[in-house]
Amino acid sequence: MSSNSLLIAGGGIAGLASALALVQRGHQVQVLEAAPAFEEIGAGIQLGPNATRRLAWLDLEAKLAQLAAQPEALAVHSAQTDRALARLPLGHRMSERYGAPYLCVHRVDLHRMLLDALMSHGGAVLECNARVDGIEVDADEVRVRCEDGRSFSADGLVGADGLWSRARTQVVANDAPPRASGHMAWRGLVQQAALPAALRRSQVDVWLGPRLHAVSYPVRGGAALNVVVIAETQIGELVDKPVETRDARSWDRPATLEALRRATGACCGSLQALLEAMPEWRAWSLHDRAPLASSAAVARGRVALVGDAAHPMLPYLAQGAGMAIEDAWALAGALQPSGSGSGNTRVVSSAVHGDVDVPAAWDAYARARWQRNARVQRRARRNGEIFHASGPMRLGRDAVLRSLGARVLDVPWLYSQ
Ligand code: FAD
Repeated sequence: MSSNSLLIAGGGIAGLASALALVQRGHQVQVLEAAPAFEEIGAGIQLGPNATRRLAWLDLEAKLAQLAAQPEALAVHSAQTDRALARLPLGHRMSERYGAPYLCVHRVDLHRMLLDALMSHGGAVLECNARVDGIEVDADEVRVRCEDGRSFSADGLVGADGLWSRARTQVVANDAPPRASGHMAWRGLVQQAALPAALRRSQVDVWLGPRLHAVSYPVRGGAALNVVVIAETQIGELVDKPVETRDARSWDRPATLEALRRATGACCGSLQALLEAMPEWRAWSLHDRAPLASSAAVARGRVALVGDAAHPMLPYLAQGAGMAIEDAWALAGALQPSGSGSGNTRVVSSAVHGDVDVPAAWDAYARARWQRNARVQRRARRNGEIFHASGPMRLGRDAVLRSLGARVLDVPWLYSQ
């Protein structure tokens, strides 16, 4: 079997999904993770059929079904009155329509599932405390130096090092730093058994209010409920301390219900009760980057970017991890010699180093991915404006939601691919 050696900077969802897709195709992978351990923090992730389809292609369908919750519907309400605005059936309807389910999973479970699959497959070496610092590329290989002095070389580098990516500086010239959106996110997780019956949920609920929205959905087979509130706010104690650029995980800060209440103002009774039922809150400020302008912002020579390193986006389409999983599948598909099995991306065959010409494969990957990722980034930003609308725009939005319902909530161009 053909085999290339690849370094992956970052062991988050993008890095591990890429590593798994690559080892499954016979490549040798070394994952360099800055943190002291391979672990994820955070709460829920919604996975549309586009993401669950690819996780099934990675042989994770059965495991995912055990870990995830399959919500029966997506229900949109007014955050002020709780009035129902629109409903999209999910559950088996989504599976029938798109051939793959809509699932909600705890981020830790998704990360652990990818890690377990990677370790049991073999072909990957995992290095922690390995913060990538220096990157050099020449005609034959890429060399990476970590902060602690260790160095590694391989045929190619995959930059999966998130929002504040170091690998990105190798790919994108004159790049601006991530944009602070001015939106704060609060998240909480609660065991459903600890909630009063009226607050337990088996669906995705979204509440839209002026300059804020909230989302709740079940995870862990329905045993736990994930709640996220996003508000446009200037609450000092959080906004005045910008996210620590040296640590992608610094968004995980303890927060108070009082600060959240000040940010949201008055909400309808059911949302208020849910917020009060959370045992604790964590908060951070949301950043994104402008939509990708070309494939040149995704890969250059022997370095390709995946996930948030390439296209960090606001979470208003619930697709950041979904796009990372799509990237992983496309990346591995691009790095296989022609005639060596299935793959939905262009296959590259001319060998320069290892068995496949890595720069050509990365270029094919970048061309296959950038427009879709840019479209999702744009749509996520646009959703933020729609979700948080006030005044006449809000009235128009609510009228459209009430009259068109499922037709505006479904996203066939996104889910069907
Ligand atoms: P990260 O998770 O940031 O991982 C990067 C990794 O690289 C980290 O482990 C970090 O320690 C490591 N690293 C950083 N720098 C270096 C370095 N120099 N060297 C080595 N390692 C390094 N997406 C969805 O699909 N569905 C959702 O419902 C959803 N909800 C969301 C809700 C919120 C509130 C937010 C904020 C995001 C949401 N997302 C969702 C987006 C999703 O969480 C991200 O897009 C996804 O986790 C990005 O994964 P990543 O691996 O690219 O980046």
